[in-house]
Amino acid sequence: MMDDEFSYLFKIILIGDSGVGKTNLFNRLQNKDFQYDTRPTIGVEFINRTVRQEGNLIKCQIWDTAGQEKFRAITSAYYRGAKGVFVCYDVTKQGTYESTLRWMSEIKQYGDPDIVITLVGNKIDLAEQRIVRTDEVSQFCEQNKVGYIETSALNNTNVDLAFNQMVTEIYKIVS
Ligand code: GDP
Repeated sequence: MMDDEFSYLFKIILIGDSGVGKTNLFNRLQNKDFQYDTRPTIGVEFINRTVRQEGNLIKCQIWDTAGQEKFRAITSAYYRGAKGVFVCYDVTKQGTYESTLRWMSEIKQYGDPDIVITLVGNKIDLAEQRIVRTDEVSQFCEQNKVGYIETSALNNTNVDLAFNQMVTEIYKIVS
């Protein structure tokens, strides 16, 4: 599974309700400065992104659901082996934030016990339509020991930061 030249393989998955912007975040993560492959499979897709931590070459495999969540049909295989998960919601839609609880219980059920979880509030460019407040979420995340970041896939705000913070957190655990 692991190529010889890499010290680590980090599987990182995107999850969250349909329409919150996962595919657009995923597309933003396909940064030209990094290597990537796209391989459509049945219902899922991933890209590879290579990073370095303390001189170690790390292959990050980032997965998008490719719409499986519409059918509540995320399989346990999607979670299997994942070292990090971005639980995404739309800051303009309260229901998508409330759903993050359901997604997190699914992660608890199927994910590794030490999986790194980051809540991602996407679409912050839609400032006037925002409903989910930053302080509310950050309090929740502090209490539950999960990471929190707000993004705009549209403006490419904080997307790389979210990724880099995730890699750093995972690296702390596995190294
Ligand atoms: P997914 O179903 O979670 O994969 O969501 P998509 O990536 O397909 O996005 C759903 C819709 O939200 C599309 O119409 C996108 O153009 C839009 N969208 C995604 N990210 C953003 C964002 O950061 N800002 C705004 N304004 N729209 C977004």
